[in-house]
Amino acid sequence: MLSAASVVEWQVIVHFCVCGQLPVEAISIVYHLYEKLSRISGFTMLEMRPGCERCDKDLAPDSVDVYICSFECTWCASCAIDSMQGICPNCGGGLRRRPPRAAHLLEQFPGSTTRVFKPVQS
Ligand SMILES: [Zn+2]
Ligand SMILES: [Zn+2]
Repeated sequence: MLSAASVVEWQVIVHFCVCGQLPVEAISIVYHLYEKLSRISGFTMLEMRPGCERCDKDLAPDSVDVYICSFECTWCASCAIDSMQGICPNCGGGLRRRPPRAAHLLEQFPGSTTRVFKPVQS
């Protein structure tokens, strides 16, 4: 069964096929790929990057004061809200609070240790 959200995505894919003038047979192939992708992506966890990409402040994976964009550019609350007004400077997308990872799962599913830090050039 497809959820409402994936039905919408499926419709977008069909629309894309039609607009791209792909043969009808291609649609079923695209659909299978899509199904496979969504199954894979269902198992994807957030990276939980360890620091703000703007000021390099430490951001714990169980902290609620962390903001991310859809690409998981990661920011502390004061950079995200005060300095960037809720818009990711890397991709232009909106920022949302990163869901904290439950403390009892951190041993099994630790946050990323790869720091991404791009100092502001101004
Ligand atoms: Zn910051
Ligand atoms: Zn971004």
